[in-house]
Amino acid sequence: EFFSQKLQVPEALTFDDVLLRPKESTVEPDEADLGTRVSSNVELNVPVLSAAMDTVTESGMAIAMARQGGLGVIHRNLDLDRMVEEIEKVKRADELIIRDVVTAAPDQTVRQVDAMMEQEGVSGAPVVDDDDEVLGIISGTDIRPYLEVGDSDEVHEAMTDEVVTASQDVTAREALELMYEHKIERVPVVDDEDRLTGLVTMQGILQRREYGNAARDEDGRLRCGVAVGPFNTERAVAADEAGADVLFIDTAHAHNQNVVSGSREIKEQVDADVVVGNIGTREAAAELVDFADGIKVGIGPGSICTTRVVSGAGMPQITAVTQVADIASQHDVPVIADGGIRYSGDAIKAIAAGADAVMLGSYFAGTDEAPGRVVTMNGKKYKQYRGMGSVGAMSAGDDDDNRYLKDEPDEEDEYVPEGVEAATPYKGSLASELHQLTGGMQSGMGYVGAETIPAFKERAEFVRVSGAGQRESHAHDVVITDEAPNYSPDE
Ligand code: 5GP
Repeated sequence: EFFSQKLQVPEALTFDDVLLRPKESTVEPDEADLGTRVSSNVELNVPVLSAAMDTVTESGMAIAMARQGGLGVIHRNLDLDRMVEEIEKVKRADELIIRDVVTAAPDQTVRQVDAMMEQEGVSGAPVVDDDDEVLGIISGTDIRPYLEVGDSDEVHEAMTDEVVTASQDVTAREALELMYEHKIERVPVVDDEDRLTGLVTMQGILQRREYGNAARDEDGRLRCGVAVGPFNTERAVAADEAGADVLFIDTAHAHNQNVVSGSREIKEQVDADVVVGNIGTREAAAELVDFADGIKVGIGPGSICTTRVVSGAGMPQITAVTQVADIASQHDVPVIADGGIRYSGDAIKAIAAGADAVMLGSYFAGTDEAPGRVVTMNGKKYKQYRGMGSVGAMSAGDDDDNRYLKDEPDEEDEYVPEGVEAATPYKGSLASELHQLTGGMQSGMGYVGAETIPAFKERAEFVRVSGAGQRESHAHDVVITDEAPNYSPDE
C-alpha cells in the first residue's frame, strides 16, 4: 500500500495554470504603487531584481536597475577583487561627494592639465599641494585659448584661487545653493585642515534628480545586491565591507542543513541584510525564517535551467511561492520569486501568490546593460544568456562553491550541468524593458483593485486555467504583423 499511496499527490501549479480574477476597482493602473521590501532593511520603489548571473548582472546592470528603483544582484563568477570593484562602481555611481577626485598640481603646465582632464573625462580639477591642501580650482573655461593663458604657463597662474569649499557633511541642497550663489559648477569638499576629501559637481546633483525613483542607501548611494556562496564567509565579509546592501546566499537547494548553518554563520559576521535561497516548500521556509532577512524561491523554473529534467526534482513556481509565503508572512520576512517569469503578467501573478518582489534573468539578458556583446544570427540581433549551472559558466567560474557544481572535474565533459547556454533576442535599454514590465504589473493591480503591493497580495485571487483557456490567453487565430514591445509568443 505504501508505494501506491505516494500517487495520492497534491497538485502544484505554475504561471500558466492560473489567472488573476478581475475585481471591482477604483484604481487606475498608473496610480498603483509598486513600493515594496526585499529584505528586512531594504525598501524599493520597484519590486524587481536582476538575476545574479554572469550574462545578466555586473555593475552596469546593477547601476541601471537601482537608478530605475529596482535592485541588481551581482553574480559570483568573479574573483574577489573583481567583485569588490564591481560593488564599488555601483556604490560610487551616483555618490553626491565624488571621492576619487582628479586633481592638478600648481606647477603643472596648462597643457598637461588640459590633456589630463581630457583623458579623465572631467571638465575641471581642484589644485592641491603635496599635503592635499586646496590652493585653487582650474576648469576648462580658465584655460580656453581666447583667455590670456599660454599652454606652457603654470597652473597656479591660470587657476581661480578664491575657491568656494564645503565641509564633509554638506547636503545636496547646500551644495546647490553654493553653486548658484557663486555661479560655479563644482565645490571641493575639505576637512578641518582644508585638505581635499572630495568634490561635489552640478552634473552629479542633476543626475541624482533625474532618477527620482532610485533605490538609495541612507547616504544617497545606489543600492547594490551581491550573490555569495554559503560556505564562503571570506567573500561575504569582503562584499559587506565593500558596501553591498544585501547579500544573497546563492544556492540551488537551501533546504540543505550545511547551507543553513553556513548561511547562519555569514549572517552573524556581516552588517548587510542576508537573503537566503533558493527553496520551494513550507518546511524549508520554516528553517530560514528565524534568521534570514529575506527568502528567495525557485527550484527549477528558470528559462535556461534544466534542474527538473536532470535531477527529477522541482516545484512549479506559483505553488512554491504560496507555500513559502504562508510561513514567511507570519514572520514578516520578505519573499522573492526567482525564475520562470516571461511576461509582466507572470511577475504580478508571483506577487499575488505572496512574493514581495520578483527576480528575472532572461527578461533582462538581452538589454544593453547586461554583460556581453550583441551578435547577429540570420539577420536578427541576440545576446548570450546562459545558466550559471551550464558547462560554460561552471568552467569559467573561479568561485570554489558554484551553486550547481558538485566536484570540479578534470575534463569538461565530466560536468553534470543543470543549465544550458543560449542566445536571447537583443532588446535595447534596460529602462524601456523595465518600463514594460512595471507597466504590466500596474495593470494587473488595476484589474484587481489594489493600490499598493501589500493590499494587492491580500486582495488578489486566482482562477484555474485549462489548456483551452491557456490558448485563449495568448494571441490566437491571427498572424501577428507587428511585434509588441512586451509580447512574443512562446512557441
Ligand atoms: P529566468 O528569469 O531566466 O527564467 O530565471 C533566472 C533564474 O534561474 C536565476 O535567478 C537563477 O535562480 C536560476 N538559474 C540560473 N542559472 C541556472 C542554472 O544553470 N540552473 C538552474 N537550475 N537554475 C538557474
